[in-house]
Amino acid sequence: MKKTNYISKTHLTNTSKKIPKPPWIKVKAPQSSSVFKTKDIVKQFNLNTVCEEAACPNIGECWNNKHATFMILGRVCTRKCTFCNIASGIPNTLDENEPEKIARAVNALNLKHVVITSVDRDDLEDGGANQFASCINKIRELNKEITIEILTPDFQRKKNAIDIIINAMPDVFNHNLETIPRLYKDIRRGASYLHSLSLLKTIKEKGNIWTKSGLMVGLGETISEVYEVISTMRNYSIDFLTVGQYLQPTIGHQKLVKYYSPEEFKLIEDMAWDLGFKMVSCSPLTRSSYHADEHFSMLRKANA
Ligand code: SF4
Repeated sequence: MKKTNYISKTHLTNTSKKIPKPPWIKVKAPQSSSVFKTKDIVKQFNLNTVCEEAACPNIGECWNNKHATFMILGRVCTRKCTFCNIASGIPNTLDENEPEKIARAVNALNLKHVVITSVDRDDLEDGGANQFASCINKIRELNKEITIEILTPDFQRKKNAIDIIINAMPDVFNHNLETIPRLYKDIRRGASYLHSLSLLKTIKEKGNIWTKSGLMVGLGETISEVYEVISTMRNYSIDFLTVGQYLQPTIGHQKLVKYYSPEEFKLIEDMAWDLGFKMVSCSPLTRSSYHADEHFSMLRKANA
């Protein structure tokens, strides 16, 4: 474990009883030789992944296929979203070799589509946009064929960030709304629902880039609130929607209110297709980067 200056991974005092996990949420522990090989490559280049930092339940499946999602700009976030398992506190210093290391790791993993995300960096003048751009440029320098998806923070009050991102031309720009606006004050403190929507719209309109956004469910929202948000997302021209079950990382995180059934996920998925999304991934274990490669390839083929 690398030494970090993080303060805390938990945010709340929560003494309520745990809701038992339904069978459709249970996953196998990551054990195959491919999983260990992926782990070795991540370690060899001294990189961070959101798969590990967020304790993603899909790590066994994704890493078995060598699909790791890199997390740049350190392991410590400057925000304190109450659902999130990433450490928050004083951020790490920037690693100027990170773009090169990511590009080399992408080739070592033989990825055809890579997803790069980051912690939030409110402390940086550009919010970390230049590091995203450098990673994109470096990956393309070493691998001309690859497609690149970035999952970014909201870049609030970071004036040039949007242009920096657009100029770097990622294939997919993803920024998650995470939840319905009524819950922002509890779950995404420091974020703004309308700002996040307008960020996605600007990237779409100015950059003509595929846009993607996601929600977690199980935090106390109603189905009609979910419908309202996803309708709004379509009005903001978001192409690709992901919806997955919120899993409470620890007792100190935002309380899990409900496990949605697979049938309820199917209902949301049907609503999303009806609203005109170009790609929808909606299931209990859906995460932003889950099957991102195959969904992007389907999206491109369907809209060629
Ligand atoms: S779903 Fe995404 S974050 Fe989770 S293990 Fe797969 S690639 Fe990593």
